[in-house]
Amino acid sequence: MNSSVKYLESFFYLKSVLLTLKYIVYIHPMKNLILLLNFILMPFLLLASDHLSGKPRILVFSKTAGFRHSSIPNGKAAILKLGKEHGFEVDTTENASYFNEASLKKYAAVIFLQTTGNILNNDQKAAFEKYIKAGGGFAGIHAATDTEYEWPWYGKLVGAYFVSHPAQQEATLNVVERSHISTKNLPAVWKRKDEWYNFRNLDSTLKVLITIDEKSYQGGINGAIHPMAWYHEYDGGRAWYTELGHTEESYTDQKYLGHLLGGIQYAIGGTRKIN
Ligand SMILES: [Zn+2]
Repeated sequence: MNSSVKYLESFFYLKSVLLTLKYIVYIHPMKNLILLLNFILMPFLLLASDHLSGKPRILVFSKTAGFRHSSIPNGKAAILKLGKEHGFEVDTTENASYFNEASLKKYAAVIFLQTTGNILNNDQKAAFEKYIKAGGGFAGIHAATDTEYEWPWYGKLVGAYFVSHPAQQEATLNVVERSHISTKNLPAVWKRKDEWYNFRNLDSTLKVLITIDEKSYQGGINGAIHPMAWYHEYDGGRAWYTELGHTEESYTDQKYLGHLLGGIQYAIGGTRKIN
């Protein structure tokens, strides 16, 4: 928060310097000299303001109104570390009042980390919808599909709703799309142990990244194509979801962390939103 305020202050300072220069140019008799100075200074000012636009900032939201995963602290710590290593700022919160228009504008992406149940009120939902419509990014992790069942817009954003899961066990994942930023470093066939969700309301337009082979474990009910990670453009914004990440161990697994990093980077997108 402090650093973004600092950035904003510096930005406004630079803006006022530029405005003053322009003002002098219009009223000062030594127009040409001032124009020349302005011309010389401009590249430095532009460079400085580009620098001051800073790193993209993300909001990691882990409020729970239902089941609470013990891996939430592991997830927060892992994303903070990814931010430090890969050039994005991370705010973590369980406070839904962050979901207002002015606050959300600061974030290039919002991450729902193991959220559960109904966690936003109507005003907060409206602010989040507006944020996505304005080109915002979303990434959902594991229980993000066990969240806000009575908010159809959210269901479509995250891509599906959780139905049930069997006991944790090893299974075979097929990484069916390996050109995406979140899967490019994964093996085509990935065996791992986790808690595997069954889904309902799976959106048929999702771009599926990973499926699970239901023959490789007990308790899958989605059939031949059982998506486990996906992305899509939705209502003006970007959304990415991974089912993976129930276990605490996930958040020190380099393959999983690379997958998560890519999902966050997809959600951040190419444009850096600075208020
Ligand atoms: Zn779980």
